[in-house]
Amino acid sequence: MSKKIIFITGVTSGVGRETARRFIKEGWKVIGTGRRQSRLDELAAELGGDFLPLCFDVAKRDVVVEMFANLPEGFKDIDVLLNNAGSSIGQNPAQAGNMDDWDEMIATNINGLLYCTRCVLPGMIERGSGHIVNIGSVAGNRAFKCGNVYGATKAFVNHFSRMLRCDLLGTPVRVTNIKPGHLHTEFLAVRFKGDLKTSEAAYENLDPLTPENIAESVWWSVNLPAHMDVCDMELMPMCQSDGGWSFCHKS
Ligand code: NDP
Repeated sequence: MSKKIIFITGVTSGVGRETARRFIKEGWKVIGTGRRQSRLDELAAELGGDFLPLCFDVAKRDVVVEMFANLPEGFKDIDVLLNNAGSSIGQNPAQAGNMDDWDEMIATNINGLLYCTRCVLPGMIERGSGHIVNIGSVAGNRAFKCGNVYGATKAFVNHFSRMLRCDLLGTPVRVTNIKPGHLHTEFLAVRFKGDLKTSEAAYENLDPLTPENIAESVWWSVNLPAHMDVCDMELMPMCQSDGGWSFCHKS
């Protein structure tokens, strides 16, 4: 039997990289993307011939369309798309937001996810099997200070995932939205624009989720019986909960 294939966006770090490792270990083929060629080269050296690295920006629509149209033999019939590439950039209140940061988050977290999904779906429907797994966030359900545009992009992922299930009803393609909470990757280093002191301090004396934990949840979701779809999964570390209400008292 031929090996199954997962296409993972954003394998140069964090969740994507660990999920790539996990699926290769389980005997799948992995197509992994990212913008940093050197990181892709390192991963390709580690994972071997069942890993196909593709260096591109998921936010560039024409590039995405071309990549999917020209996948090499042996990597065309994608079983699972993991829409993982994403970022949270900047830590300002909306009234002082950096609009370049907003554009980049919207382009990656929303447009990139849409382009990849649109490209992969017709083949999945034609082949009679497929699974779209989106990485959302607890930020898509909850409001917190300075989460503004990032949280809104993940709310988009929530609702698009639900709407997609409606469109795909009657096809064998499943849709899953996995929503992690505090998770130790390079994510906060990106939010704080390379300020590792601040980003690493956010994990101090805590036991956050790990990329391996999320890879496990992806593995579990896609290996359930074909008639079962995990629509929505929220994962938080035990050290995290909701914050409650904030009030501005009269002076
Ligand atoms: P990392 O910053 O460690 O990894 C992000 C990955 O996305 C990198 O491989 C990066 O690759 C890729 N990426 C970002 N922008 C683009 C782009 N425009 N085109 C292609 N690839 C891109 O973060 P995580 O592993 O934590 O993030 C994975 C997902 O998990 C994201 O969707 C994030 O929103 C979500 N998430 C993370 C949480 C956390 O606390 N860590 C919590 C909840 C959700 P490169 O830079 O090489 O392009």
